[in-house]
Amino acid sequence: MTALVDVEALDRWIREFAGQVAAHKELLTQLDAAIGDADHGANMDRGMTAVVAALDGSRPANAGLLLKQVGMTLVSTVGGASGPLYGTFFLRMATASGEVTALDGQAFAKALRAGLEGVVSRGKAEAGDKTMYDALAPAVEALEGALSAAAPLTEAPTEAPTEALTEALRSATRAAEDGRDATIAMLARKGRASYLGERSVGHQDPGATSAALLVAAAATALAQS
Ligand code: ADP
Ligand code: MG
Repeated sequence: MTALVDVEALDRWIREFAGQVAAHKELLTQLDAAIGDADHGANMDRGMTAVVAALDGSRPANAGLLLKQVGMTLVSTVGGASGPLYGTFFLRMATASGEVTALDGQAFAKALRAGLEGVVSRGKAEAGDKTMYDALAPAVEALEGALSAAAPLTEAPTEAPTEALTEALRSATRAAEDGRDATIAMLARKGRASYLGERSVGHQDPGATSAALLVAAAATALAQS
């Protein structure tokens, strides 16, 4: 399969996510004010601003190094639960990607799956616990499903693999947003929101909201490649 997600594309994805986090900083903070400690917007914006500054300072030579730099920067600049969780997500993505200059759609999906597994091994969240997992897991599943459904078609010379990945990332975005919306009805079982018990019901999870932005940013940024 043709290489689709090169270092440039990963760089665009991360910068797009940083822009989305900045644009939705107040929303993320308001959501965290309702069921947490009102710092998710500030945490993510501080982290992603540092990530972009690091990318401006040195453009890593391959996918693994770029994703590793993102993860390390998040771990060192974001306190709270989300720093180590997003940090681990990108560090696991880095390891899964390896020191290659580009990933095809399947390899990108594999790296995202590894990132998701990192979030689980770090935070022990399960489906329905009202966390970022509830947006990320359906997104990875939708991406894998859409790519394997498209795989036989992309072997035909008329079918552009870029279009298959773009379409799969759109499915993943819809799944992430549906997952994010489904957290409203959930009772939190992990993180600060779990201290509220029943009172956490009826509020959208801030981490699931930022995670949906991460997936949407991939659909926006990688569609251009
Ligand atoms: P903190 O809760 O330390 O203030 P943030 O406000 O930045 O950190 O992030 C809160 C988000 O982190 C939650 O909305 C939730 O999505 C996510 N989160 C918290 N704990 C876990 C966990 N154990 N596993 C997965 N995600 C979690
Ligand atoms: Mg918080």
